[in-house]
Amino acid sequence: MSKTVRDYIRSIADFPHEGIVFRDVTTLFADARGFRMAIDQLLHPYAGLSFDKVVGLEARGFILGGAVAHQLSTGFVPIRKKGKLPGAVISEAYQLEYGEAVMEVHDDALRAGERVLIVDDLLATGGTAEAGIKLCRRLGAEVIGCAFVIDLPELGGRKRLEEMDMPVHALCEFD
Ligand code: IMP
Repeated sequence: MSKTVRDYIRSIADFPHEGIVFRDVTTLFADARGFRMAIDQLLHPYAGLSFDKVVGLEARGFILGGAVAHQLSTGFVPIRKKGKLPGAVISEAYQLEYGEAVMEVHDDALRAGERVLIVDDLLATGGTAEAGIKLCRRLGAEVIGCAFVIDLPELGGRKRLEEMDMPVHALCEFD
């Protein structure tokens, strides 16, 4: 049987902390067939739709989002962790298991009414993606969907985003 996107993802035990199994997409990105398959499948539900921008979430969302933007012939906008973007930004804080994180976008990166697709490698609790959606919406953009390579359904991210009226597309699931 031919390999699926999921088959290219490596699992690494006890990273970044003991007891965590890290889903490593670098093995997917490094394989020409796997990477192309992932980009094609990320785009699949959006065939025939038009977008103005692809928004990638730091950091692996930049790799995926850049390729997706190229395919859609759109521009690419990075949403970065606090303090990384050089221009004027707007910020959105969200809760982590321990503490808080902040995501930022340039305040002129999206215009009102622009149609946006958000891309990241993995959906866990949904906190990162929710912050990304809020930033796009605060700039007046319309987020058409969020696309991920991996969904960890037990962590509830899909439900959280769907409660924000955000359609979620994921290529595979892990426990
Ligand atoms: P969330 O905010 O809880 O949904 O976590 C998603 C964010 O954490 C994404 O930006 C992911 O890149 C990152 N992340 C969490 N766990 C993993 C993992 O096992 N592999 C790769 N990225 C992960």
